[in-house]
Amino acid sequence: MSKDCEVLIVGAGIGGLTLALSLHRAGISCRIFEVVTEIKPLGAGVNLLPHAVRVLDGLGLLDELAAVGVTTQESIFFDKYGKFVLSEPAGRAAGYGWPQFSIHRGDLHDILFRTVIERLGDDAIVLDSRCVRVDHDTDGATVHFRSEDGSSFQARASIAIGCDGVHSVIRKQLYPDEGAPRFSGVNMWRGVTSMKPFLTGASMVRVGWIPVGKMVIYPIRNNIDAEGNQLINWVAETESDTPVERDWSRAGRLEDFFSYFNDRRFDWLDVAGMIEKTEPILEYPMVDQDPIPRWTFGRVTLLGDAAHPMLPRGSNGAGQAILDVACLTEKLIEYGVSERALNEYDRIRVKATTDVVLLNRVAPPDTILKEVHERTGGKPFERIEDVITRDELLEISNRYKSVAGFKVEDLQRSA
Ligand SMILES: Cc1cc2nc3c(=O)[nH]c(=O)nc-3n(C[C@H](O)[C@H](O)[C@H](O)COP(=O)(O)OP(=O)(O)OC[C@H]3O[C@@H](n4cnc5c(N)ncnc54)[C@H](O)[C@@H]3O)c2cc1C
Repeated sequence: MSKDCEVLIVGAGIGGLTLALSLHRAGISCRIFEVVTEIKPLGAGVNLLPHAVRVLDGLGLLDELAAVGVTTQESIFFDKYGKFVLSEPAGRAAGYGWPQFSIHRGDLHDILFRTVIERLGDDAIVLDSRCVRVDHDTDGATVHFRSEDGSSFQARASIAIGCDGVHSVIRKQLYPDEGAPRFSGVNMWRGVTSMKPFLTGASMVRVGWIPVGKMVIYPIRNNIDAEGNQLINWVAETESDTPVERDWSRAGRLEDFFSYFNDRRFDWLDVAGMIEKTEPILEYPMVDQDPIPRWTFGRVTLLGDAAHPMLPRGSNGAGQAILDVACLTEKLIEYGVSERALNEYDRIRVKATTDVVLLNRVAPPDTILKEVHERTGGKPFERIEDVITRDELLEISNRYKSVAGFKVEDLQRSA
């Protein structure tokens, strides 16, 4: 069987589409195969931190992201009573060379999808292609697909990259004995709703801690109507005995979690009112998987959630997939489209993302709120300085930035 191109990408999600743009820019031919038969704007909000935005800027996407998403100005923490704990500037306001964007996953996906079609052509993405297996030999990789009508086909290239997300078929093939995802004891309810801007109009807010209900709230689209409303994204987390199904589109019910949040009507935001008017509500489990020792097997490797599914607690799910792309492209340029390049990528990114997966379990940025909750016993406080110093809070935040690869001093623009 002859080769269709140099690189086969399995999955047209955030990682797969970004990889296609990056390879195209490097002059490496590729094709993407995606299971869905139609692309729809699915999901809710995601955050792109400056380390990921730098890569997307390198692909010429900065202006479009700024036009569609919200340029985040601050990351701010409150206790469950709505009392201020800490505010930190975000993106350029914090001295980074690149902004932070809060954006609807559907909008981000749409930008990437349209740009792939514009730059690589209509036939760069093959829909209705469910990967069922991949084979590889010394010369290349062959991916086997099935269409919805039951027919089968194959594609061959020098290498194949599994960007097929949290239910990755390629990961299952490489690690057939891997157990079920690891449940953190928390389920999440998510939604987006139209509201007037709150705080700076570009604030990413975290409120409360998990035993008493934790929330993350941020705007993801500006000026969505003539009244100047924004689209606001929220996530509510509570302790649960069992994980719900790991399905990004699973519907959730208000009555399953609202009792934790129904008294949260603060002067800076009516949180309870925001939840009440949201339709639909989605539900997702807080799960991850133990890091695996390697992703590369011969001419096949993994990228993004297929490689390192992580707890969504540090705004790094999409970001680490994008950093994988940057590293993989660099190695393919350096060593050619070869096993050597995949092994070098593996050597660097397995270690880097393993650290993030493990830190997300024990000390993500919202550990700030855990610390406050534990020190106050969940009781109201008068002054945060009497509970914890600003330096202690910043130490938690800075440790996460260092491990996840977005220390401000590492992300300056050269003049
Ligand atoms: C529908 C959906 C909604 C999401 N909503 C959110 C959200 O609201 N907030 C958030 O933080 N993250 C969300 N995510 C996850 C987020 O996109 C990823 O965590 C992150 O961007 C890493 O991207 P990825 O490319 O590795 O995975 P994904 O973006 O999940 O992409 C994986 C792609 O692979 C495709 N695929 C899966 N199996 C196969 C197969 N066998 N053959 C071919 N293609 C296959 C999937 O259809 C998908 O397009 C969502 C993902 C999906 C698929």
